[in-house]
Amino acid sequence: MRPIIGIAGDALTQPSAKIDLNQADYVPRAIKQAVLKVGGLPVILPFSDDLQLTEEIAEQLADTIDGLILPGGPDVAPIVYHEEPIPQLGAVIYAEDLFETALIKAILQNKKPIFAICRGIQILNVALGGNLYQDLAVQYPDLKIQHKQQSFGNYPIHHVKIDPDSQLAELLGKTAFVNSRHHQAIKMLAPVLKVVAKSADGVIEAVESRQNDLILGVQWHPENLWQDDPTQLRLFADLIRKAEKH
Ligand code: MN
Repeated sequence: MRPIIGIAGDALTQPSAKIDLNQADYVPRAIKQAVLKVGGLPVILPFSDDLQLTEEIAEQLADTIDGLILPGGPDVAPIVYHEEPIPQLGAVIYAEDLFETALIKAILQNKKPIFAICRGIQILNVALGGNLYQDLAVQYPDLKIQHKQQSFGNYPIHHVKIDPDSQLAELLGKTAFVNSRHHQAIKMLAPVLKVVAKSADGVIEAVESRQNDLILGVQWHPENLWQDDPTQLRLFADLIRKAEKH
C-alpha cells in the first residue's frame, strides 16, 4: 500500500472562461508526479471557503493522510502574523492560510511528517509562531542575490549552504544549487524550528524541527529540479519513508 500524501490545494486566481473553473482547486502537476515517482499516493486537499468549517475539515484530513506536502502558492496574508500589508505584498488567499495553519497543527499533533516548499515553508513558520519579510527587496537590507529569478522556473540560479548536522545534509550534502522563485522569506523564526540552509546573502532557505524528524521545509522548488537533478527527488522520497514509519 502506498502511503497517502496530502498536497494542500491552491486556487486559480486567474478568471476562467468556464465559470466552474473560476478559483478551481489545484496542485502543481510536478509535485503530483514526484509523489507518484517515489511511491506515494497523492491526494489534493482543497481548502474550505466557509471559514467556520476550516478546522473541522483540516483535522479530519490530517487523520486521513500519512504525510503532508505544503506547496508553493500565493503570499501569506500578513494579518496571520499580525501585520498590515506593505505596498509590495502580492495576492493573498486568507482561507488558504487558515486551512494550512490548521492542517499543520493537526498533522504535528498526530506525529505525521510535513514537507514544505516555498510558500509552504513560510506558512509553516507563521503557523508555528514566526513571521515573514513581506518583500525581501524593500525589507531585507542585506539582499545581494536574485531570489525572484528571471529565468525559467526549472533553472537552478543560486547556491545554498547546508548545515552538515541536519537531515537535509544527509539528503543533499553540504551545498545545493537551487531555483529561487520567492520575494518573501522567513524573518523571525518559529521557536520549534531550526535553520538548516541559507543563501550567500543570509536568507533562510531550509528549516527542520528542533524536536523530531517530522519537519523539512525548503524555500526553493525541488518539484521543478528533480527531472534534471535526481538528487532533489530524495526530498520527496524522504517524506514517503517517514510517512511509512509514522
Ligand atoms: Mn532563494
